[in-house]
Amino acid sequence: MSIIPVESFAAGRWVAPGEGALTLKSATDGRDVARIGSSLDYAAMLDHARRVGGPALRAMTFHERAHILKALAQYLNERREALYELSYDTGATKADSLIDIDGGIGTLFVFASKGRRELPDDNVYVDGAVEQLSRSGSFIGQHVATPLKGVAVHINAFNFPVWGMLEKLAPTFLAGVPAIVKPASQTAWLTHACFRMMIGSGLLPEGSVQLISGSTGDLLDRLGGQDVVSFTGSAATAAMLRGKENLLRNSVRFIAEQDSLNASILGPDAEPGSAEFDCFIREVHREMTAKAGQKCTAIRRVLVPQAHRDAVVEALVARLDKTVVGDPREEATRMGALASLDQREDVRAKLAVLESEARRVFGDDSRLSGVDAERGAFMSPALLTSDDPDGAARLHEVEAFGPVSTVLPYRDLDHALQIANRGEGSLVASVFTHERDVARQVVLGSGAFHGRLYFANRDTGKEATGHGSPLPHMVHGGPGRAGGGEEMGGIRGVMHYMQRTAIQGSPDLLAGITKRYVPGAQTREGKRHPFRLRFGELESGMTLWAGPREVTLQDIEHFAEFTGDTFYAHMDEEAAKANPFFPGRVAHGYLILSFAAGMFVDPDPGPVLANYGLDNLRFMKPVEPGAKLKVRLTVKQKTRRNDDYGEVRWDVGVYDETDAQVAGYELLTMNAM
Ligand code: NDP
Repeated sequence: MSIIPVESFAAGRWVAPGEGALTLKSATDGRDVARIGSSLDYAAMLDHARRVGGPALRAMTFHERAHILKALAQYLNERREALYELSYDTGATKADSLIDIDGGIGTLFVFASKGRRELPDDNVYVDGAVEQLSRSGSFIGQHVATPLKGVAVHINAFNFPVWGMLEKLAPTFLAGVPAIVKPASQTAWLTHACFRMMIGSGLLPEGSVQLISGSTGDLLDRLGGQDVVSFTGSAATAAMLRGKENLLRNSVRFIAEQDSLNASILGPDAEPGSAEFDCFIREVHREMTAKAGQKCTAIRRVLVPQAHRDAVVEALVARLDKTVVGDPREEATRMGALASLDQREDVRAKLAVLESEARRVFGDDSRLSGVDAERGAFMSPALLTSDDPDGAARLHEVEAFGPVSTVLPYRDLDHALQIANRGEGSLVASVFTHERDVARQVVLGSGAFHGRLYFANRDTGKEATGHGSPLPHMVHGGPGRAGGGEEMGGIRGVMHYMQRTAIQGSPDLLAGITKRYVPGAQTREGKRHPFRLRFGELESGMTLWAGPREVTLQDIEHFAEFTGDTFYAHMDEEAAKANPFFPGRVAHGYLILSFAAGMFVDPDPGPVLANYGLDNLRFMKPVEPGAKLKVRLTVKQKTRRNDDYGEVRWDVGVYDETDAQVAGYELLTMNAM
């Protein structure tokens, strides 16, 4: 096989490795795989992103960018076989590659879908509700977010060459911010191959993504207040980079995922033989061996009730003993190699540190068979245990980034949480329990130390996604030692690349900014009923007034008998009067809604395809017999769904003859284009 030149992609052109490039070796047999290291014009890259990429991305709406992400995911999905092939030389088995490659593509799909469902088909993101800042409502507030006008620099770790790139790119792209991706050198040939496919797809606007294969040179020294650095790797590198004077001076956002001494807790209720116990053993074993333990979320500390420590060790050793370590291309192999010989050296050194406080109960590299451990970075999984988790220090601070875990006994749940929290901030902790009280106690006692808490038991069964899998829907990151960062978590992850701005002003200006009707903004009545207008013809603020219609006692009684809702407030004058909220018998809330629909609906077939929900319904004032109701129907917001139809959100107000509002809600319809 020829040696892969790991190029950079800078300011629209490919740059091959040059003078002084490094040779990257296969993790499994030590042969030369690739060369990396190009000399780049970092100023030109930043300029290209800011001048070309940013404007091109910001010219699109969130939905347009989400559509590109989906097409990109489909494009990569059809080509992933080629990536699996390259992945073997990183030491990964096929199962490991599924986590990295399919997991990365899946993340693109989720962000594409969330972008279309949860973000507007617009460029301004509306964050939260309108805030009433004045008595009469002539001055109000609203938070909005718009894309940063700089560049996102993504510095990734070696362990997830594809997922690591895509999980950062998806929210950045959706936000409308160009990215410069810098993969870890060790496994960069795989990232490069995926990146080349992305450029080859022709889907991404010029300047929206660039790739640095090798050093970042003076790039970080050139960043400003509109830029973001998103880093995954070691705590030492994170601390060095985030302390750069230029980043501090310009308050450059710095998101970090770094070391994490993740714990998994076998609940006090999970006896050997229980479903929770079995599930726990499977999970710890899987986390030790998947990606050869090179996962930022892997279980490093295994916390078990004192009484069950021996049973846990025995069960884990039995499983580890059956784990075939070997060539990741072989089907029988359950655990491949570490990413490099250097990485294995690092893990062995850290293992020795851990062994100063714990004894090894499994793991002997001399027993590895059928692998060339001289040339390939193979090592046996290693299981340790300690009798004194309280007296230990290194066990809670040193991360051996490989197939290494330590079993620690605890006295009671409080003690377990104390031990878990000694990690001083982790990405994830898992708990295997069937007790609701245990789960709540864990959240209260340990939530503040963890970015994610994962509960598994007999009920979650096979559907549970696993302790070690960060999901695009859920936050990934942790406090303290874990870096204090947060990624993904659905649209929360997009917000890292946007600026939230508090907008204060008149309702009309706010409606203009957000393209959403807000109470108090101008409305206008057209000649045609809005139900006769197609999606594209409707504009926020278009309004229909309808009514009046009188509510009679006969209507209330008829409605009560017809629906079966004969609640006393509608049927029993004396009982209703005794209720502090009612003057006497009142109309049903649902009768008011039905009358409102009866007033505003235009009955003939037309562009309104379906009424599919009401949001934020409130009944504000009791309606007595004799009240004369009228209704206002205003287009609040439109969201295109596809080429055929889109969602229209209507603001509906129902008023009585004194103009007091008796009910308010948002009506959702699907309207034809
Ligand atoms: P590093 O911190 O050395 O590298 C992480 C990334 O930072 C790589 O892309 C690396 O590039 C880059 N980098 C290193 N130095 C600089 C610099 N001066 N300027 C700009 N970028 C730089 O971590 P490793 O990948 O070597 O992993 C080491 C340890 O980190 C692991 O053993 C593990 O403990 C921890 N880790 C934690 C992870 C987590 O998410 N919690 C994930 C992966 C690792 P290059 O490769 O070219 O040096």
